[in-house]
Amino acid sequence: MTTATAERRSMLIDGQWTTAADGRTLDVINPATEGVIGQVAYGGREETRRALEAAQRALPTWSRQQTTWDRAKILKRTAELMRERCDAIARTITLEQGKPLAESRGEVLHSADTFEWFAEEGKRAYGQVIPNSLPGKRHMTLKHPVGVVAAISPWNFPITLQARKLAPALAAGCTIVSRPASQTPLCLIQLFECLIDAGLPSGVANLVIGSANEMADEFLSNPICRKISFTGSTEVGKQLMRGAADQMKRLSLELGGHAPFIVFPDADPAVVAKAAVTGKFRNNGQVCVAPTRFFVHQDIRDDFVSAAVQFTRELKLGNGLDAGTEIGPMFEEKALKQTSTLIDDAVQRGAQLLTGGKRSERFDRGYFFEPTVLTGIAPETRLMTEEPFAPVMPVLDFGRLDEVISAANNTRYGLAAYVFTNDLTVMWQLAERLEAGIIGINDPVPATPQAPFGGMKESGLGRELSHEGLEAYLETKAVSIRLRDS
Ligand code: NAP
Repeated sequence: MTTATAERRSMLIDGQWTTAADGRTLDVINPATEGVIGQVAYGGREETRRALEAAQRALPTWSRQQTTWDRAKILKRTAELMRERCDAIARTITLEQGKPLAESRGEVLHSADTFEWFAEEGKRAYGQVIPNSLPGKRHMTLKHPVGVVAAISPWNFPITLQARKLAPALAAGCTIVSRPASQTPLCLIQLFECLIDAGLPSGVANLVIGSANEMADEFLSNPICRKISFTGSTEVGKQLMRGAADQMKRLSLELGGHAPFIVFPDADPAVVAKAAVTGKFRNNGQVCVAPTRFFVHQDIRDDFVSAAVQFTRELKLGNGLDAGTEIGPMFEEKALKQTSTLIDDAVQRGAQLLTGGKRSERFDRGYFFEPTVLTGIAPETRLMTEEPFAPVMPVLDFGRLDEVISAANNTRYGLAAYVFTNDLTVMWQLAERLEAGIIGINDPVPATPQAPFGGMKESGLGRELSHEGLEAYLETKAVSIRLRDS
């Protein structure tokens, strides 16, 4: 097995690091400096077909000859290697994605935990023995790997979002073709090096980088690919769902969100404002589960807003590699324009800008935007109706429980929701009535490998992580046995 060197960053197909058939490459840009930090091979349909064929060849051995215990050893070793190489992988994430080094380290360690957890959970892919209704019959279920899987992920959590697909798919006995976002492939190459060094056989996991449309066409039209697991925008998720219909391909879809963050009057406004600012501006708000609509009870609204503005102004903006940086650059230049457009729209409709609101003037280069807090938001502003994916905190107020539940649910999305209260009755009401797949109660960071992660409504289909995340890569077979008369 060859190694992907810094000079020749490549795709991994059938255990070989390979360049694109037509020699195309792609520059990878550092959003903090706008400089080129590396080049990768940029493939298309042909490389995707070859990767699918390699995964198909590897499937019988990986799914049948290797037991769940054999597979677990490789996944656990992968987790150990990720932890050992955490600093190097985290540095790459920061260089190509922009988030502060501490957040990148957290991403690598969370992803290592995901590998370790699925290594164990794969051993619990139990079938059932089902009581019979006729004396001579017996019934049971067996779990069967879905087969060859395609995994497409975005740039905002380049390691985490592939780990949530690779680990359960491999644990279930599937083989896989991973396709990272074009702009953040380098850290995934390092993750694949961990898989190889942990002993993963050739062809079991393949890495292709290149044209999204071409690769999606191949995944959709090639019958070898039995399932597509996609994380990204709701719009692309819908396209894939339409395209998957012809061959009835299995789909897991982790899509956009527009999370309410609801603060009740019994909560401490300064303490919750700190959690709100941390949760909102993590990764510059470019997080699917980021809180995006802040509903604060009118009795504590003024205290919450003044604390939130103060904490926001204190955030240290800078290159993610520099010590002390709390907020890195946004991911790409067009995100700066989109963010300004959303803020302008809100201000034109009467919102008050309390801090931030523009590209930072402190930097000559890099996509830095000042963290922003707004109040006086009209319900029809684009910030309320579109997923913002930006460092903008719009604060609204409310008076009654029913009113805030109805406002929180008034969106086509249903991924995450956050509630801050010490009142058990209010907590239960919200947990039961909010339309969101993930609900954090006094908890701004609810994701963990052992709990399901995914959305309701247009935020997606299926769940990642937890036992449900393993089931997503398994088919259930019902086996009925007629016994001989004795
Ligand atoms: P995106 O445009 O949908 O891209 C996501 C991935 O799909 C990228 O790898 C992209 O490739 C690829 N892609 C683009 N067009 C495609 C097509 N026609 N067919 C197949 N793949 C295609 O999403 P994004 O704007 O980069 O990412 C942000 C979105 O992801 C937000 O909506 C966010 O909420 C969502 N997200 C959801 C979760 C979750 O777990 N629910 C987690 C993180 C992010 P290129 O890089 O080459 O464009």
